[in-house]
Amino acid sequence: MFDLLIATNNDHKIHEYEEMLSVYGIKVHSPKEFGINDNPIEDGKTFKENSLIKAKSLQRFSKMPLIADDSGLCVTALDNFPGIYSARFAKECGGNANANLEIIKRLKDKKDKSAHFACVITLLNVNDTPVVLEGICEGSILDKPDGIGGFGYDPIFYSNEAKMSFGSAPEEIKNKYSHRSKAVKLLIDYLKKRKLID
Ligand code: IMP
Repeated sequence: MFDLLIATNNDHKIHEYEEMLSVYGIKVHSPKEFGINDNPIEDGKTFKENSLIKAKSLQRFSKMPLIADDSGLCVTALDNFPGIYSARFAKECGGNANANLEIIKRLKDKKDKSAHFACVITLLNVNDTPVVLEGICEGSILDKPDGIGGFGYDPIFYSNEAKMSFGSAPEEIKNKYSHRSKAVKLLIDYLKKRKLID
């Protein structure tokens, strides 16, 4: 069993990581489990910078192998907004349901509805230097929310590979094609190469 701490307070993210990693004999731990309450200021300018900020901040509390991810929705016609501001934008809108409607509204007269989700994972406490892994998932923004599955912007995101919205996709389908699962595949490859997992 390989123990891995995940730098997030988001229960949905923890659950997705559990689903994706347990099959490889990786036991996922949340900071909450150890009474760690860490809320670093994410003032980086990229997903990569914010991912490193979160990982380094949690590293102050633990020597256990740990990952942090920074992720978000990038809408092409909105200059990749909300991007690194995805969580903050949802908060400003008063929740994700409102943020989803606001994005649909901003895209109303735009021809290009393409978008992607991005996820950058930073792994610490395994190598001398941080290991950075990135996953991208291409798709488009729907004209109305579809489905109640997943979290965040899932109901308005149509995945080109899953051929359905992430809001309506069964968990295993989202976890097969998502940005997070693509970064996780790279993480698994890395841990296998280092012989830390089978
Ligand atoms: P983070 O926790 O700082 O990485 O915030 C990322 C934000 O981007 C989340 O709060 C969601 O609003 C959005 N987001 C990231 N990944 C996903 C996903 O898989 N589905 C839907 N929204 C996501």
